[in-house]
Amino acid sequence: MTAIDTTPDADMDAFRQRCRTFLEKNAKQLVLDGPDPRSDQSVAHSRAFQKKLYDAGLAGLTYAQEFGGQGLTKTHERTWREEYARFPECTGDLTISHGMCMPVMNDFGSDELKQEFMPRGIAGEDIWCQMFSEPGAGSDVASLQTKAERDGDQWVINGQKVWTTLAHHSEYGILVARTNPNVSKHAGISMFMVDMRDPAIEIRPIHQIDGGKHFNEVFFTDLHIPTTWLLGELNNGWNQATAMLMYERVAIGTGSKSGISTPFYNRLSNEATKLGLIQNPIVRQKLMKIYSNETAKSLVAMRTRAEMKSGKAPGPGGSLGKLHGSNIMWDVREMLHEFVGPQMVAWTKDGDGFDSNGESWNRMALQSFMSSIAGGTDEIQKNIIGDRVLGLPRDVSIDKGIPFNELRVGTQSD
Ligand SMILES: Cc1cc2nc3c(=O)[nH]c(=O)nc-3n(C[C@H](O)[C@H](O)[C@H](O)COP(=O)(O)OP(=O)(O)OC[C@H]3O[C@@H](n4cnc5c(N)ncnc54)[C@H](O)[C@@H]3O)c2cc1C
Repeated sequence: MTAIDTTPDADMDAFRQRCRTFLEKNAKQLVLDGPDPRSDQSVAHSRAFQKKLYDAGLAGLTYAQEFGGQGLTKTHERTWREEYARFPECTGDLTISHGMCMPVMNDFGSDELKQEFMPRGIAGEDIWCQMFSEPGAGSDVASLQTKAERDGDQWVINGQKVWTTLAHHSEYGILVARTNPNVSKHAGISMFMVDMRDPAIEIRPIHQIDGGKHFNEVFFTDLHIPTTWLLGELNNGWNQATAMLMYERVAIGTGSKSGISTPFYNRLSNEATKLGLIQNPIVRQKLMKIYSNETAKSLVAMRTRAEMKSGKAPGPGGSLGKLHGSNIMWDVREMLHEFVGPQMVAWTKDGDGFDSNGESWNRMALQSFMSSIAGGTDEIQKNIIGDRVLGLPRDVSIDKGIPFNELRVGTQSD
């Protein structure tokens, strides 16, 4: 449980100074040496930073000490985020591991699992991936067909996942699988942890339009895991998956930093200055739109974090931040095309079309489409906001109450 917030101001000031000193020494901008933003180089950079953070006693701030955390308060965490916001991002490849898998492990893992696996996870020595999506189950994850069957004191898993970010760099993963096909599709799902290095798991990279290959197809053929690797309750996996998706939307929508930040406005206005366009009134108007939306996104993120600090579980409000982030990317992409023009066509390390961080604009434009899909598409976020934030009538559900094995989904449709 998170410690109650009674820290004297002087102690919090000292903590802030500790964070700042650490960041000044260790938070260095990574200059990528290739087109893949999640390359071996970048993952190694994230791991190394996280290990230093752990060794300095600044990782896993709110987790219990017995599980590798620091047992500190949400105020400590917010203080850390505020300081981190002023430094380069060094933990981008740990968003899934730390923003989703560790919180879910903390919520649903047994004490034995938490003691065994969380310290190395918090330290970045182990990276975790999330395996929900399947070829026939993306927006409708509950239609998943990967199955887990009990065999004595083991579970045996067979099936396929897809779009698994960083599976090839991960030591462990959290997956959802069908454990009872005779009940409705949401009712017969359970959550498990698996060892990604097991030979019964085959990981095949998916090559992306931007030259990277950071996500994968993952195949399970008679993967045997101990029964103790079931996370939470048997057949309660849908509720737990929903909790994980909320963490995901908060992680994507609020990032790992705190306070108001306008990173795309900053970068684009620098670029406009460089190109002599900064006095153009239309450019200025578009820049201000991005500035306003980034500011609003930061404020939504601060509200979400404040709600979590007051003890509220992450709720559908996380969808607001995520949708907002993807709307900003549409505007950024449009501006980039106007600014950089033909230089957008090809990525060359030595050419123009780079910002002052050495980031390629063309790569950013190609990647910007991801934000409308990863973690649930824009349409799904709008459904969630309509239904669960605004109280509008629910999306039509035609398979309610029908046992999963009678549904015509995925390969069951033949
Ligand atoms: C960069 C990236 C990283 C990812 N990483 C992971 C990961 O690590 N682990 C993981 O499990 N998954 C991951 N995913 C997968 C992601 O969660 C799915 O792609 C996403 O949920 C959409 O599913 P789908 O691709 O099957 O599209 P579909 O669900 O087939 O959707 C197709 C289209 O139909 C629309 N649609 C579907 N249902 C509705 C509805 N009810 N109302 C309105 N419109 C609807 C969608 O909005 C979309 O436009 C990742 C995806 C990306 C792009």
